[in-house]
Amino acid sequence: MIYINGQIHTMMEHAEVCSAMIVRDQIIIETGTTEQILKLQQQGEQIIDLQKNCVVPGFNDSHMHFICTGLCADEVKLHNAKSIQEIQNECQKYLLQNGDCTHISGTGWSEQIIDSNVYPTKEDLDQVSTQIPIVISRICMHIGIANSAALQLYEAATGKILTKEQKQSGLIKENQLFELQGLLPQPSVDKLHKIILKQQAALNAVGITSVQSDDLFYVNAIQAYEKAQLNNELTVRVHLQRRFDRRATEGPFLTNGPLKFFADGSLGAKTAALEEPYLHSDSHGLMLFTDEELKQKLTQQSVVHAIGDAAISQVINIIHQLDPENANRSGIVHFQITTKEIIDKVAKRNILLHVQPVLLLSDHELLNERISSELQNTSYSWNSCLKQKIHLSFGTDAPIESFNPLLNIYAAVTRRSKIGVLNANECLSVEESVKCYTVEGAYAEFKENTKGKLQKGHVADFVVLEKDIFTINQEEIKDVRVLQTYVGGKKVFDLQK
Ligand SMILES: [Zn+2]
Repeated sequence: MIYINGQIHTMMEHAEVCSAMIVRDQIIIETGTTEQILKLQQQGEQIIDLQKNCVVPGFNDSHMHFICTGLCADEVKLHNAKSIQEIQNECQKYLLQNGDCTHISGTGWSEQIIDSNVYPTKEDLDQVSTQIPIVISRICMHIGIANSAALQLYEAATGKILTKEQKQSGLIKENQLFELQGLLPQPSVDKLHKIILKQQAALNAVGITSVQSDDLFYVNAIQAYEKAQLNNELTVRVHLQRRFDRRATEGPFLTNGPLKFFADGSLGAKTAALEEPYLHSDSHGLMLFTDEELKQKLTQQSVVHAIGDAAISQVINIIHQLDPENANRSGIVHFQITTKEIIDKVAKRNILLHVQPVLLLSDHELLNERISSELQNTSYSWNSCLKQKIHLSFGTDAPIESFNPLLNIYAAVTRRSKIGVLNANECLSVEESVKCYTVEGAYAEFKENTKGKLQKGHVADFVVLEKDIFTINQEEIKDVRVLQTYVGGKKVFDLQK
């Protein structure tokens, strides 16, 4: 197949733009001018006219929860709940519509949206049901509320005793919450397989061709991915960020990635671990592991969730102690609250960062409540990272945030939230942002020689955009639509259809 008349942003070293390329057997064989490439046409080889449209490599989301994003559509969504009553109503509605359900799991509530500014409680959920377990997690997914049945399930299944306060409030945090969610009846392989097929279509529609996905809290996730792979159904390349040391059978669309750990919680839940206490509080958040414990874990390539500066420093130190050159390419996911010293250390120690610029749009207001303005000035500092040549890749943490790459690029380029711009000197260019979404994503997967650029020898994963994001007004970037998405040279999304 030959593609001509495009504005093909190759993402090669010097930002080369070419107009044409040849794709054979899923791989880019040659790039160049339309004239040059047409000369190489083989007999019967088809030509596609890109009609001067902007083309970029397929986006690679370097940290998201692919299956969870798909499953969330099936869960009770509480993002708009303005009162405890509304939370109860949503749960009741789910019970009525799913008469045979074995449990309710919901997500999305936030005390910042609930009028009375309080957390829901065990009592509130017991009013919905005491028969089946109910667990509803806060929008950050780091804290949740359980009803009596869920608390009983936890104690019976783990043999652990919850504290009196936990039993009273139903409030469960971090690892205990993940453990509890893991005890709820698990979706079957078939159900997850269906979710994968549905969700990948949604990802292709916004130009995503690769994901680095943390899904393994679903025990059947690996089998479901393998089933889709065996049937040749995958149209997104999935690189697993693994919570357990289990591995999938690999293929061109399914590979095993780093182990995934959590070093702290979230800013919203005040469980991100900070050096200085939270504003108007004496709490420093929550470190989830001691240094020794973390050392036992980070023995191979790992990505570690760390949001607060205390947790980030801990992870930097442990990675450095275990792997001084960081040959494993271990990384930190989120990397939000930082100081100049931290960024210097990350650069020196060659540690990878997996960040989510889109978070800034929702966190900006919260930052003012939680963090001093001085510390804010050195946080979410991606331009400072790039200046020091740190390997910085972009993701969205979906379903926490929208998985739309154009919105994410908009956030990185403008840093403009509802309440204004956070540190304008940390804005990135469109070129830099696209690189973080493509080249750097591939680097984190050890695939920089075969993926992430539109050059000879790379897989033909690319996206045709309706507007040229490199030249339009930055405000427009978030609304730009994808015209077509190609994976391995195969068209997997077309806006016209
Ligand atoms: Zn995540």
